Amino acid sequence: MYGYASKSLKIDLSARKTEIIDTPLDLIERYIGGRGMGVALLGKRITLAHDAPGMPLIFASGPLVATDAPTSGRSSVISRSPLTGTIFDCSVGGKFGTELKRAGFDLIEITGKADRWTMISIDDQSVVIDDAGHLAGKNVEEARTLIDTRGSDAVIGIAGEHQSAFSSIVFDGHYLAGRGGLGAVMGAKKLKAIKVKGSSSFDIFDPAALKASREEIMRLLRASQAVFGELGISEFGTAALVDLIHSRRMEPTNNFRQTFYSGSTAYSGYNLKNRYKAKKTGCMGCPILCKKIGMNGEVMPEYETVSHFGALNDNNDAAVIVEANRLCNDYGLDTITTAATISCFAEIEGRKLNPDELPELIREIGGMTTERGRMLSYGSLRYAAAAGKPEASMSVKGLELPAYDPRGAYGMALAYATSNRGGCHLRAYPISHEILRKPVATDRFSFEGKARIIKIAEDMNAVIDSLTACKFVFFAASLEEYARAVSAVTGKPHDTQSLLRTGERIYVLERFLNSLNNITGADDDLPARFFTEEGTSSENIKVSPLNRDEFLTARGNYYKIRGYDERGVPTRALMERLGLGEYL
Ligand code: SF4
Repeated sequence: MYGYASKSLKIDLSARKTEIIDTPLDLIERYIGGRGMGVALLGKRITLAHDAPGMPLIFASGPLVATDAPTSGRSSVISRSPLTGTIFDCSVGGKFGTELKRAGFDLIEITGKADRWTMISIDDQSVVIDDAGHLAGKNVEEARTLIDTRGSDAVIGIAGEHQSAFSSIVFDGHYLAGRGGLGAVMGAKKLKAIKVKGSSSFDIFDPAALKASREEIMRLLRASQAVFGELGISEFGTAALVDLIHSRRMEPTNNFRQTFYSGSTAYSGYNLKNRYKAKKTGCMGCPILCKKIGMNGEVMPEYETVSHFGALNDNNDAAVIVEANRLCNDYGLDTITTAATISCFAEIEGRKLNPDELPELIREIGGMTTERGRMLSYGSLRYAAAAGKPEASMSVKGLELPAYDPRGAYGMALAYATSNRGGCHLRAYPISHEILRKPVATDRFSFEGKARIIKIAEDMNAVIDSLTACKFVFFAASLEEYARAVSAVTGKPHDTQSLLRTGERIYVLERFLNSLNNITGADDDLPARFFTEEGTSSENIKVSPLNRDEFLTARGNYYKIRGYDERGVPTRALMERLGLGEYL
């Protein structure tokens, strides 16, 4: 079949057995790839604990991977989050998806639990499960010096070995399945690393049509200020957002107690680039290259990371932020949750942390070297609850909020609350409308019309993650261009509406699977602080608390538009309309 390897690899680590099967046609046709295929495959096994041997850990590519479509080098990781208990997927950059598909696989489904530390090596259709005792107790940088890194690799650090609830999986030493703690799922299976190398090439159904759609996407990217503009992410990385969010007074500061931080210029994209003489790098096949590497090999932190190790922790020392980012990547920790958990800790302690304490706390968390580090490694919600101050955790469904204060963008407030994976900016990203004014500008201090915008964006992002493309392209291009690209690759006709329907099927299925673990509308809420405390206003911008009645009305509208019942659960009629009856 054009666009797919048409084979899947199943690995049972308990039995040390591997099996190659045909990728089910139904899975391809109804879920496209990446996130969608992973969610559908996981299915009702979502009720297993994240560390149960039967819980799958799925790595999946998509139809555009290893083609000339821009940003098509990505892949998805799917399982159940130990941090939120929800179904969880991460879209990952690097070249893992490309190598996996070239090895001849659309996806890998790993179940079971090895009896000792293990590494999986895939070289085209040869799959070997090796002992990895020599890698145990090593962080990512060191572990990678001990393995053959030709091709692509996915490694967990010490945090994943200890099953920290927000441990990540690190791809090619630089790209992270960061959020939600999927590193702990890998750690629970005693799987330290996966290496993959492939040499197959693929037939494209209509190469000329793919070339034409690529040229159209490139034209739109070149015209986009947010992407290739003077201050865009290609030039400065996502840290380009620091100044923008700062000027809008929605910069989470001191554990979301203020919305303005006077010191953030020190770590703006512009200043980081100049200070570290940072150069562009990025995922395989990407023309944007939003990642940045300093002259001495320092990995430049993303926007969320600089802001949370900066303003959220009252720290304007850029060197400390860069080191905090390096440590998180090396231990294999999600930077957003790490920084937010430390900020929650500081609030509970009732003191400002010295910047030097940030790296020290990361080492304690990553290595669980102290009782304090162990307690913090469960995330802010569990830490704050154990301290008797659950209100100090700035999280939704246990996932710590990223670097957009919801009092400054009401669509973001609603999107955080209703997201299937907890406090996440990437399910819908209404910041695109509310701050970047793309595709159309909306009033950021109003809930009006936001429920529908969020529903459409959630469906769109679910299908983008399934293609598997990068969301940053959609600051410029639309699903229309990507529908042409995927039609050209696969030979199956797609258009914007058919892709959105697939996205809706994926999103609603995730929601339904969460409900099997009793995660429902009661969990679609924000920390009380946002309804009771003001942000930091200026002469021009008034940052008021959110109006709770307006928020609840918008949430109710969102349920109606989605076709959920009053508990926020998909109705039988909706499930059947989307062809999801088999899951009921
Ligand atoms: S824009 Fe950045 S994150 Fe997206 S594919 Fe390109 S390099 Fe990777």
